[in-house]
Amino acid sequence: MNLLLHICCACCLCAPLNELRKEGFKVTGFFYNPNIHPLLEFRKRLKALRVFQESDPIKVIYHEDYGIKEYLKNVDYEGNDRCADCYALRLKFAATSAKRNGFDAFTSTMLFSVYQNHKQLKTISENLSKEYKIDFVYRDYRHLSECSHDIARKKMIYRQGYCGCIFSEYERYKNTTRELYKGNNPYSKDTPEILSTEDELQRCSCFG
Ligand code: SF4
Ligand code: SF4
Repeated sequence: MNLLLHICCACCLCAPLNELRKEGFKVTGFFYNPNIHPLLEFRKRLKALRVFQESDPIKVIYHEDYGIKEYLKNVDYEGNDRCADCYALRLKFAATSAKRNGFDAFTSTMLFSVYQNHKQLKTISENLSKEYKIDFVYRDYRHLSECSHDIARKKMIYRQGYCGCIFSEYERYKNTTRELYKGNNPYSKDTPEILSTEDELQRCSCFG
């Protein structure tokens, strides 16, 4: 079965990709993520997938335009459910592209992440599948998340510190300064503990 796999970065891809292949799927990647901001972060994740391809022959269809305007047009970022709009935006394009390009089915690496709303992703995908008459392959590989991140680490693939949009970046880092410096005065010689940025990033994958 020819499967179009929506990929938001290489982190959640590493281990589940092997499982999908073992099941007999012929997997083609699909990079379409207008939710990743700012531009330099978008480029880093794009590059991470290309680095992954250096050690794995997966074919990937890239949408390389920076999509901040598209994201802001389609996502109710002031409401309480921006993630549902964001999922729908990306999955709809994945589903319709799969249909248009003759794939048998679509799915997404977002389903393999422990940080995403799995149930919501599944429901949105199932609805798109019915609407656009293209099969949706549902798999729950969240138990492989750590394994995936280990592989990414070994392959020296960039691992992001927040989900993607500028709002998630703010939520992830808004308290960072206070966390980094556990003393009152960061410049004091008596400051007890200073965590490195690397320590900080080790703690998180998508949402931190
Ligand atoms: S870590 Fe987040 S951005 Fe990367 S593939 Fe997983 S869900 Fe997507
Ligand atoms: S937090 Fe992640 S899923 Fe939610 S809107 Fe932002 S980029 Fe999209």
